[in-house]
Amino acid sequence: MLPVIALVGRPNVGKSTLFNQLTRSRDALVADYAGLTRDRKYGEGRLGDRDYIVVDTGGISGDEDGIDSHMAEQSLTAIDEADVVLFLVDARAGLTAADEMIADYLRRSHKKAHLVLNKTDGIDEDAAAAEFFSIGMGTPLPIAASHSKGVRQLIDYVLEEI
Ligand code: GDP
Ligand code: MG
Repeated sequence: MLPVIALVGRPNVGKSTLFNQLTRSRDALVADYAGLTRDRKYGEGRLGDRDYIVVDTGGISGDEDGIDSHMAEQSLTAIDEADVVLFLVDARAGLTAADEMIADYLRRSHKKAHLVLNKTDGIDEDAAAAEFFSIGMGTPLPIAASHSKGVRQLIDYVLEEI
């Protein structure tokens, strides 16, 4: 069985962008508006001689209703299925109540999870990291998915401990 890495987080934090980077495919829909990827999406990736499976999810907004509750549900299923969870947050948007809610869920699930600080391009990375440190998931791993920045280091780090 290949290790399964799930990407979770609020809509619009950059999950599908990272998915495309990790799988070198254009399979996931990357949209400028939140919530388009409604179902879990699986892709295969390889780093060096290590293969892995990445799962993209629609996102958890914390204010679920209708289609949103379906998206949130499949995100929670993706967490259950995963060997490791990458919890993406948006360095530009700052910490939100939905981020805190997802962090609480991850803590209760006892899954191996990493906090990934995306969209760090062109901002004060240390200040953003300090804000998200308070979520209690350790030091955030900084990336800029749309610039391929930090992505290789991230996956290296994640695969090392699976
Ligand atoms: P998802 O809803 O979490 O899957 O988010 P998407 O991958 O669809 O990205 C949402 C928006 O954020 C898109 O406009 C992306 O181009 C943008 N985005 C993703 N990663 C980055 C990044 O590292 N830096 C910046 N500035 N924008 C990004
Ligand atoms: Mg998406």
